[in-house]
Amino acid sequence: MTANIAIVTGAARGIGAAISTTLHRDGWRIVGVDRVWPADIAPLFTSTETVDVTDFAAVTNLIAKIEAELGPVGLVVNNAGITRDGVAHKMDPADFRAVIDVNLMGPFHFCRATLPGMRQRGYGRIVNISSLNAQRGQAGQANYAAAKAGLIAMTKSIALEGAAKGITANCVAPGFIKTDMTDAMRADMREMEIAHIPMGRMGAPNDIAEMVAFLASDKASYISGQVMAVNGGQLMP
Ligand code: NDP
Repeated sequence: MTANIAIVTGAARGIGAAISTTLHRDGWRIVGVDRVWPADIAPLFTSTETVDVTDFAAVTNLIAKIEAELGPVGLVVNNAGITRDGVAHKMDPADFRAVIDVNLMGPFHFCRATLPGMRQRGYGRIVNISSLNAQRGQAGQANYAAAKAGLIAMTKSIALEGAAKGITANCVAPGFIKTDMTDAMRADMREMEIAHIPMGRMGAPNDIAEMVAFLASDKASYISGQVMAVNGGQLMP
């Protein structure tokens, strides 16, 4: 593998940190992107970048810098995401837009900036972190579900565009995973969610990381445009 730079967004914590650790184990050189980095950054990163994924100019500059200084980007994992929950009939449009900007525009910015190089080199991997709630909807998350469902449609389109150019694009759709995002939920809501998981427990960030690592590997070279559910047995289409 020559293009062994992997960009992971939202890499400072949660699922993104687990993905970074797992890809590093598999031999990728990791460029982590986040808005804020802790003082004790894990030594696995080749580079840590403070970039907001909603800022297209910053993303474009970052990719140019990485490709000039470190080498070609082989893999992008669009993991950064936010929630701004509320029922649709009361939701502030600014909260709808904020979620679209981070969870859908952010991944587009990274795809837009890296795909030309991938097409030129005839190799690339895109893995986008969607959600179970994109596949089934979720009360209180019209904004989040719409952004994550849009991400699935964008991924399939990019998969078609890249198929003859050695590029695969896939989504991972996590179920209910223990991170700061789910720790922030009301305890009774969290327990209600867990009660609906056939395996009776939340997933771990590593459960998602291993699926990303598989999709990034040569073992998955004939898989593209797919949504890989990692959700403890919820939603069996
Ligand atoms: P966390 O909130 O724990 O971590 C998300 C990371 O993304 C944070 O470090 C956050 O930084 C960063 N981030 C947010 N906005 C931006 C931005 N504009 N630019 C750069 N970085 C940003 O989330 P999880 O680890 O739980 O989730 C990771 C992904 O998995 C998300 O896309 C989420 O939607 C998805 N997912 C999670 C599920 C779960 O159960 N946890 C279920 C299904 C999907 P900051 O500290 O600045 O906010």
